[in-house]
Amino acid sequence: MSDKISPALCAVADNIGTIRNKISAATLAYQTQVGMVGPVTLVAVSKRQPDDRIDAALTAGQRVFGENRVQEANGRWAHRRKFYADLKLHLIGPLQTNKVSDAVTLFDVIEVVDRPKLARALGVEMSRQNRQLECYIQVNTGEEQQKSGIAPGDADDFIVYCREEAKLKITGLMCIPPVDEEVSMHFALLKTIAERNGIFTLSMGMSNDFEEAIAFGANSVRIGSAIFGQREG
Ligand SMILES: *Cc1c(COP(=O)(O)O)cnc(C)c1O
Repeated sequence: MSDKISPALCAVADNIGTIRNKISAATLAYQTQVGMVGPVTLVAVSKRQPDDRIDAALTAGQRVFGENRVQEANGRWAHRRKFYADLKLHLIGPLQTNKVSDAVTLFDVIEVVDRPKLARALGVEMSRQNRQLECYIQVNTGEEQQKSGIAPGDADDFIVYCREEAKLKITGLMCIPPVDEEVSMHFALLKTIAERNGIFTLSMGMSNDFEEAIAFGANSVRIGSAIFGQREG
């Protein structure tokens, strides 16, 4: 649909339909071969997107959204939550310990557990709020200095720590491969770590590589620009 005749509303609904079809096709093609668990969750990444596009996605039936900043997410979702009881919000950006309380109140899934201090703070806060959220561990598969995530070599110990000491419900692993590298080895590495630790959700794949991620066993994909278009700012 061209931009002239298509306000954001139509475009977003169309894009969601297209992505869902591609996810279904990739799932059919690869599911048995990679031993993927369950259907693929589409996490629509709504960070820095204008309100009309968010509402268009909700109207199109999308209910799972990803945000990378606690405060920004609060402004966008706190009021909308009241109208959509089945909404599920995933935190996919770095979390500072001073934001843990707000994060536990707002989100349903924390995808970015990556250090003992944060794991402890989340455990304490979830018990205080009596909200046991699903948690994923972010693995820095490319061992990039500037990127958050636990190093692959430390992942097994950290998973045990999160489960046994911090009392977190660890259900998934998440990674963001380096921009300039072949993504497949990163996806394969994440799957290997998940398998040997009894973890069943693999959050990997974004707008440009979600089909490849599904081929490597992803069952949760985080897609922003391919649904909403370019972000603001
Ligand atoms: C922004 C973001 C995405 C979405 O990226 P697109 O390329 O727009 O699909 C996915 N995952 C994380 C962690 C992000 O920060």
